Amino acid sequence: MWGKRRKKLAVALTCADWRLHQRKVDMNARLAAKLGVDGVDLIAVPGPDGLLKPERASEWQTAVAQIKLLIGAHSPVVIVVLAHQRCAGHPVSDAEHDTDVAATAKALKAATGFSGPVRAVLMVYHSDTAWDLLMKETF
Ligand SMILES: [Zn+2]
Repeated sequence: MWGKRRKKLAVALTCADWRLHQRKVDMNARLAAKLGVDGVDLIAVPGPDGLLKPERASEWQTAVAQIKLLIGAHSPVVIVVLAHQRCAGHPVSDAEHDTDVAATAKALKAATGFSGPVRAVLMVYHSDTAWDLLMKETF
């Protein structure tokens, strides 16, 4: 391609919570920098690390289908499940977020058949405008 470098992209399954997406937090750009990619496609649902609960099976299937579409369209180099503490969509303890985000990343790798890395990432709460972005397990 003349003069057109193909963008290196990621796909993230993340939370819909506005606090992660506001300008002061800028989760998308920070995630792109940590992953070494040019951009991050987002699938945003309330409590992404709760999608393996039996009562959310249809939501899980929808998210998997949307992520498969983006894999086909954008050939991402990495997929991420990004959960956060104090999540209304999946109101569990900090320790449970640690295990649930890892389990969700592992299940997403299996469900999509994605050949590259699927990473678990956690946003650690300090205040509504201050979050640490913690890279966790890779599957
Ligand atoms: Zn949330």
